[in-house]
Amino acid sequence: MKVGIVGAGIMGISLGYFLTQKGVEVEIFESTGDIGGLAGPLQLEDGTEVDRYYHTILSSDRHLASLCQELGISDRMRFNETKMGFYYNNRIYSMNNIIEFLRFPPLGWIDRFRLGVTVLAAQMVRDWRKLESVSVEAWLNRWGGHNTFYNIWRPLLKAKFDGGFDNVPATWIWSRLVRMKSTREGASQKEEAGHLIGGYRTLLEAMAERIEAAASHIHYHTPVEEIVIENGQATGLRVRGEFRPYDVVVNTTPTGIFTRLIPNAPESYHTFLKQQQYLGVICPILVLDKPLTSYWTINITDDTIPFTGIIETTSYIDPQYVGGHHLVYLPKYTAPGSEWQQKSDEELKTIWLDYLRKMFPNFDVSSIRYFVMNRTPFVEPLHGLNDMDKIPDFQTPVGNLFLSTTAQIYPELTNGESVTQYARRTVELILKR
Ligand SMILES: Cc1cc2nc3c(=O)[nH]c(=O)nc-3n(C[C@H](O)[C@H](O)[C@H](O)COP(=O)(O)OP(=O)(O)OC[C@H]3O[C@@H](n4cnc5c(N)ncnc54)[C@H](O)[C@@H]3O)c2cc1C
Repeated sequence: MKVGIVGAGIMGISLGYFLTQKGVEVEIFESTGDIGGLAGPLQLEDGTEVDRYYHTILSSDRHLASLCQELGISDRMRFNETKMGFYYNNRIYSMNNIIEFLRFPPLGWIDRFRLGVTVLAAQMVRDWRKLESVSVEAWLNRWGGHNTFYNIWRPLLKAKFDGGFDNVPATWIWSRLVRMKSTREGASQKEEAGHLIGGYRTLLEAMAERIEAAASHIHYHTPVEEIVIENGQATGLRVRGEFRPYDVVVNTTPTGIFTRLIPNAPESYHTFLKQQQYLGVICPILVLDKPLTSYWTINITDDTIPFTGIIETTSYIDPQYVGGHHLVYLPKYTAPGSEWQQKSDEELKTIWLDYLRKMFPNFDVSSIRYFVMNRTPFVEPLHGLNDMDKIPDFQTPVGNLFLSTTAQIYPELTNGESVTQYARRTVELILKR
């Protein structure tokens, strides 16, 4: 069997690796010149490579850990204790232990207790499907009460969804609370964050080496122009104007790109796929010569500030691994069609730095080594209330054509852990066919 894969992000590379381990020949096509897609690197002006977007590995990412072990790169994993904070009313509040939690000013005693109950309630959920028809707002209000919702959750949700969140099901917060709680293990309940030295590239290249060693190939700068469909069957790919035959084709690109690649798929399938929407992200990296804070994540509960949070990855990555720099990511998630994505890089930089100075009046602008703008329109699939039937199957209505993308990852969050797990699942289906 010979399989053609569209995209060399973590999904495409994991599919290629798992398939070649089963003796299947693969060819992977990537439109850009590098491995990794959203999980890939970028090069700073001084030549240092850093993750384009912040990528944290949690100690509970067991599939990822066993994959690293299998590839012989576990010794490149590092975990460090981290801190989380909240920006509220022009101040940062540390929220890392029960004492800090009990001191958090916007909440009274009862609200604090109910916030704790909310986290516990998420851990107690046995059947997440029951949360499919409950809105995130209703669920958070039920467990945490109005005050907690108004002061904590509402600004966080507004920032995450770039405005409205009426149609967001409670599964969204449930999967996040469960994932975050899973990092706090043991009696100390200390929070840890981890990374691979060299970033996700280390994992991706270890898999790519195995793919090439199995006489399969990854082609960079080679966009797939069409997934060729004849008589309801995928027969191959059109690349650089040439037809290349495959027994099976797997697409890993977001559904918006996929629909453009399959002009000969049934119209009803196009209509179905077009329902899928994504959040985008604008996420500059501030490269500094000293730390901004000591926090891994600062959640911003002030909806006048455009970015959603402050993620300082060098709070857990030793700067020696990233050229001695301190890396601060300032993400703003954007709704489909958001006007934020229309703004120029220069406009965004001015707005971002203005707000940063508002938050940190003593911020020393001369500590900025680089300010690198990154953005993408498709980062996180959006699932509405009772939307399970809108999630596309791995097996498409076209014979020999599989779809394996983040749009199918649900209710888990989309990250290296879930993407590699779903890639394994797709491979099992391909081998069973
Ligand atoms: C701001 C941000 C923060 C994140 N934080 C984390 C985190 O902390 N931890 C974590 O594990 N994950 C995190 N993620 C999520 C993670 O990056 C993604 O879930 C994962 O990278 C998705 O991989 P993918 O292969 O499915 O998709 P993609 O990375 O989108 O890969 C698709 C690939 O297809 C290529 N392509 C597109 N069109 C064509 C074509 N016509 N022909 C050939 N190739 C094509 C693209 O160039 C791309 O390389 C984060 C993502 C972002 C943006």
